[in-house]
Amino acid sequence: MQFTDFGFDNRILQSLRHLGFDEATEIQARSIPEAMAGRDLLASSKTGSGKTLAYLLPAMHRVFKVKPLSKRDPRVVVLVPTRELAKQVFSLLRLLLAGTRFSSNLILGGENFNDQIKALQKDPHFIVATPGRLVDHLKQRNVFLEGLELLILDEADRMLDLGFAEQLKFIDDTANHRLRQTLFFSATLDNTEVNDVAQMLLREPSRVAIGSGIDEHKDITQRFYLCDHLDHKEALLSHFLTQESIKQAIVFTATKADTVRLSAMIHELGHTTQALNGDLSQAARNKVMDSFSRGHFKVLVSTDVGSRGLDIANISHVVNFDIPKQVEEYVHRTGRTGRAGFKGDAISLVGPKDWYNFKDLELFLKRTFTFSVVETLEATFKGLAAKKPVSVTKKKTPKSTHKSQEKSQKSSGSKRRFDVSQQEGFEPFRLPKNKRSLPLDDDSEA
Ligand code: ADP
Ligand code: MG
Repeated sequence: MQFTDFGFDNRILQSLRHLGFDEATEIQARSIPEAMAGRDLLASSKTGSGKTLAYLLPAMHRVFKVKPLSKRDPRVVVLVPTRELAKQVFSLLRLLLAGTRFSSNLILGGENFNDQIKALQKDPHFIVATPGRLVDHLKQRNVFLEGLELLILDEADRMLDLGFAEQLKFIDDTANHRLRQTLFFSATLDNTEVNDVAQMLLREPSRVAIGSGIDEHKDITQRFYLCDHLDHKEALLSHFLTQESIKQAIVFTATKADTVRLSAMIHELGHTTQALNGDLSQAARNKVMDSFSRGHFKVLVSTDVGSRGLDIANISHVVNFDIPKQVEEYVHRTGRTGRAGFKGDAISLVGPKDWYNFKDLELFLKRTFTFSVVETLEATFKGLAAKKPVSVTKKKTPKSTHKSQEKSQKSSGSKRRFDVSQQEGFEPFRLPKNKRSLPLDDDSEA
């Protein structure tokens, strides 16, 4: 995608020409339209992928095009974890703003406080800051955020690592009015604190995650099996639990009821097992997790409540009894195995209802998976016809006002790209012969 395709204000295009940028990177191509549409954004991609322009350009576009909420308050605040990064972002911003009437300022810890007060009195439109010093100025009422239109967090994961959670909360509270837009950039979203803080700051965010990392994870073998129906899935699960050499395993399911039912089935097979789901109290959940991590039982059957944070070297297998609707969840689930240098197996069952989630996952991971087959349990289901492309991040819901509604959706896995249950009526078709059998992943030993 070219920078000329976004519909940017001419002044932005001119700056980009001066800097010699024409083609957007992937994170830019996917984030900029979301940000320009006024949505909150939760984005991750690896370093060096061009995140700075991904937020500076839409921020500038908004400031150039939209009437300010306040004549005096900053319109855009970019928060970054360190002084070095702040300086880098600021110098790029300055270049981009050169020749326009818009001003910017850098507010860093460790610099002269009074100089900063003077600079703030000039009412800059953009501020690049480290969180601690900005909070100091807010507390002393040297700057106000009632008119803030865009709050941007760059390297949010690092800000949290450095202990800035409280400052972020303070800034969020100070600028907490209904017209604020928030862009949240992080190298990883696989971190509970990052997710908690994102949930606090963002309202119904669009998600853009590029290069999630699971693919480079050589210690995890990913296998996919087609299934016809529930009984077939259960038969396959029994097969794996009986045949594979399992130290400990987690079986992930979509519903609480499934955790209980499958756990009973696994018990019947003679394995020690427990169910973990959101119906249990936090104390009860902790007890199950603790007991599992001490190796007191072999198979944990869990909804996505168990997909984060469990770091147990002994987990040799993860079974996805269904493919999560929110594809990032696949990465979290699968990342429970292959830890600490041990090999892990991730086995995923793909039935008709999982099909479009599976295709979405392939898109997300940017690879095509072939299916493995258990000889006695081969599926007749071979996949569904492709459906019309759906932009995975676009949402039609008009961006409304406040963070009150549906807050709990954000990290619960119920926020879906699209709902497969609405996609009935597709004819099964047969995959070409060469796609039907099953090269396992290269590093597979099976
Ligand atoms: P990140 O924040 O993801 O680590 P940066 O925003 O610091 O990445 O960008 C990394 C480098 O890539 C910078 O030198 C930047 O100038 C360059 N860059 C960013 N976007 C583009 C682009 N669209 N075309 C060419 N170079 C780019
Ligand atoms: Mg960066």
